[in-house]
Order: sequence, then structure tokens, then C-alpha cells
Amino acid sequence: MAKIREIVVVSGKGGTGKTSITAAFAAIAKDTLICDLDVDVPDLYILLQPTVQKTSPFMGGNKAQIVQDTCQHCENCASLCRFDAIRLKNGIYEVDETACEGCGVCYTLCPAKAIHFPPCQCGQIFESETRFGPMVHAELVPGQENSGKLVSVLKSKARSLAQEKSLSTILCDGSPGIGCPVVSSLSGASLVLAVIEPTVSGWHDFERVAGVCDHFHIPCCVLINRYDLNPAGTAQIEEKLETSHYTYVGRLPFSEELIRATNRGICITEEKSTLSDQIRDIWAQLQVFTPKTARGVLRHLA
Ligand code: SF4
Ligand code: SF4
Repeated sequence: MAKIREIVVVSGKGGTGKTSITAAFAAIAKDTLICDLDVDVPDLYILLQPTVQKTSPFMGGNKAQIVQDTCQHCENCASLCRFDAIRLKNGIYEVDETACEGCGVCYTLCPAKAIHFPPCQCGQIFESETRFGPMVHAELVPGQENSGKLVSVLKSKARSLAQEKSLSTILCDGSPGIGCPVVSSLSGASLVLAVIEPTVSGWHDFERVAGVCDHFHIPCCVLINRYDLNPAGTAQIEEKLETSHYTYVGRLPFSEELIRATNRGICITEEKSTLSDQIRDIWAQLQVFTPKTARGVLRHLA
């Protein structure tokens, strides 16, 4: 079976229009599984309106629990917990679940073996259907972390579902920034599209995420969004891209049409417009993408 292509749309930070553009691609993509890896702010569902077919728990870590009958009130756990999650209350030691970071120190060092350390559910994973095809997405319980692990679990789920359904492509809305969830988002990707803003900070954000792509030898393309809000900034970025090994796939203007479509809950490419045609053109470029040069790869092998 041919290898499934994984296209991940990322941005150095939130608010660049990454999710609207991913949704616009989803609406025109063929033979594709859609995957929302932006698990801290999973808002792709707003435009794609998935119907959930299957829900499974995401077990993201462990939490300490004190068995009061066995506890000898030695205070070890309270003094060892660097997160101050164990407190003496009404004569008994109790774990504050929201403060417990699941490090396991108290569990390991309790002399009475009075601490249990069960896995806890940090969120839910959904397999859904949308009007454009199957979708995998998730939600974290508020305040829970481990989003990098959740991204990794989601990607495995997406890969096995795409294989099962004989789909050729996985289109991912990646996590913003360059933290652990982004590294998980990029892992195993065939191609990354970075959506950037035409500003100095937009370029710096891009450099950081592009550095992660280079490190993992993943080809990276660039799309400048809302280029007309800063033509001078756009020109500077285009000049830098010209001499870089990143492929520039184009620029999109600020668009009232996009805002109106989003407010109506539809993707911009579901209707005819100039912006819709521009996005279709960029999607077509991604389908026939070949890296500009191998410089990024060679730089890291040198
Ligand atoms: S370390 Fe164990 S025995 Fe000591 S107070 Fe904590 S739970 Fe109780
Ligand atoms: S598992 Fe770690 S963070 Fe949680 S209560 Fe025990 S020592 Fe504190």
C-alpha cells in the first residue's frame, strides 16, 4: 500500500488564520482524513461540525491518592511533594488533585505503601464524520496537561483509521508554537505548511517552527496570511524566502469574505470567490510539492 501523506498546517503562534485555512483545505481535499492536533484549543470542529461516531478516554498520567486506613501520618509525602499538593487537613493527609503533577515521588517513598497512583483520564478522543470525510479530534479536561502525549495518540489513531479506510492523505491542524505538542504534531509528517503573518515577530515565530522542521528533516512550505495588512513586511519576508530553502507557496489577503463565511459556519472554499480560488491553488501546489533544495537536510547532517 502507498505511504499515506501527512500534511501538517502550523504557525509559530496562535491567531494567524491557521485553522480557517486548514478547514478551507479540508473542504476541497479528496481521499483525506482530517485531524485536529491543536488539542489545547481544538476549534476546527466549529467549521467542520463533526458527528461523533466513537469516543474513547485519553489516559494522560497518574495522580496520587492516599489510603487513609494505611497512612501512618509520618508527613514524608507532604514534605517531599515539591508541588505542595499534599496537605494536612482535619488531622489527615490529603492530595489536592488539581495541584498533583503526577511525579510519583510520594508514591515511591511512602514508608507505609499508603499511596495509590492510578492512571487518570485527562480527556477524550473522538472519531467522527464530517461533510468532507472522517475526522479525528480530542478534548482535554480543563486544567489537564500532557497535550504532547495526546497529540501523539491522536496521530496514531489518525494513521490507523486512514489505513483502514484506504485514504491517501492525513490533513492536520497542528498545534501553534514550538512546544511539546508541536514536536508531536510534526513527528512523521510528510510536509509542513507554516502560516505566518507579515510582521517581524511573524518571521521570528516562523524561524522557530522551521528550525524544528529542519531538525526532523521535514520539508516546510510557507504561506503569508493577510499580506496586505503590512505590504512592507510581506516584501521583507518574501525576500528572505527567496534565498532560503523553504518553499513559498503564496500569500492571501485579509478578507471580510472569510470572516462572513466563518460567522455562517462554513469554510471559505465551499463557495466561489477569489480567495477560495487562491486557497485552491495553494492546495494544488501542496499536492505536487517537491522540496526546493535539500539544503535544510544537509545542514543538519553536516
Ligand atoms: S508518606 Fe505515607 S504514611 Fe506518611 S503521611 Fe504520607 S501517606 Fe501517610
Ligand atoms: S505524585 Fe508528585 S505531585 Fe502528586 S502528590 Fe505525589 S509528590 Fe506531589
